[in-house]
Amino acid sequence: MLERIRRIAIIGSTGSIGRQALEIIASDRRRFHACALAAASSADKLIEQARAFRPEFVALAKPPADMASIAAALPDGTRLLTGPSAAEDAVRQSRPDMVLTALVGSAGLAPTLAAIDVKADLAIANKESLVMAGAVVMPTAKKAGINVLPVDSEHSALFQCLLGHRHRDIRRVVITASGGPFRDWPIDRIQSASVQQALNHPTWQMGPKITIDSATLMNKALEIIEAHWLFDVPAEQIDVLIHPESIVHGMVEFRDGSVLAQMGTPSMTTPIGFAMYYPERAAQAWGLLDLAKVGTLHFSAIDPARHPAIALGYDVIRRGGTAGAVLNGANETAVAAFLDGRIAFGQIIPIVRDVLNQAQLTSEIDKDVLLAADALARRRADERVEQLQQSTHPRPARG
Ligand code: MG
Repeated sequence: MLERIRRIAIIGSTGSIGRQALEIIASDRRRFHACALAAASSADKLIEQARAFRPEFVALAKPPADMASIAAALPDGTRLLTGPSAAEDAVRQSRPDMVLTALVGSAGLAPTLAAIDVKADLAIANKESLVMAGAVVMPTAKKAGINVLPVDSEHSALFQCLLGHRHRDIRRVVITASGGPFRDWPIDRIQSASVQQALNHPTWQMGPKITIDSATLMNKALEIIEAHWLFDVPAEQIDVLIHPESIVHGMVEFRDGSVLAQMGTPSMTTPIGFAMYYPERAAQAWGLLDLAKVGTLHFSAIDPARHPAIALGYDVIRRGGTAGAVLNGANETAVAAFLDGRIAFGQIIPIVRDVLNQAQLTSEIDKDVLLAADALARRRADERVEQLQQSTHPRPARG
């Protein structure tokens, strides 16, 4: 039987996940059509993609001054939307069957909620939207009757391990962490690691924000929260294991002690493809696992002294309400400050922890409350960054 073409809106099409999704579309045009492509500011790349994939809509959040030349460069039948709500508008207007949220950060929340509104299935690579607003996103998606398909490799693994199993039979879920570039460094040396060193991830090729999050292990704290919302499991039933080979992505331990694990080469294309084809499986593979070649797999427990970010993930689940929005806003700000050379690597997590501990959390939440908590956390984190900069580079005393 011939399948209907699945219309996919890719929000964040010029980033690493978005480009891999487009490769899948290019390889299977009878199954997929990119109906909308959205980027933050990469106009040239977006035009190139529009010419190759002919979407009905392209969206640019921050367009360059020369808008006329962009519009002229787009193919016939592609409409340009611009401005801060362009991605959300593209979701609402392009009649997608599925929305892939492949952008980074809290900007993912609005298009995620728009996808639920138009009853499109959600392929979520934007973990920040779940960290901030899982309490809004998950029940709304359930009510709308849409599929929520994780693209994060660990959560795709858990989703696959849970297929055909009853929720009440879960004893715990385990996500793995490669340990990042500083896995074997002495703790002292990690504190002053450079931007270049932090961006040099051993197993995964990703954008700068998530690569820094992987080096601090904040990425894993965010993923603990993500797992909590996606699979409705409490903090006590979520574990993390350091697994340098990044072959086992996630495991589910059931009540009878049986453990199911999902394995694969460390390629993001596999979990992206899993979500795009769901509930079927792609006929093609993006990297085959040769365990005889891998030989040995290693696992070790989280060391709280070495990985202080992990505790913050559990803390956010227990505190609930706006805690996820505060954690995420503070972290995005601290990571940006580190990438700008304004703070040391070892200052990222203490800043996030301070902002979280000092925040007045609210338990009655909606989108506006979450965005306000996010904005306030960013301001508080910025203030901490400035204080730290002044203590490192004190202004000359007036004489
Ligand atoms: Mg992941």
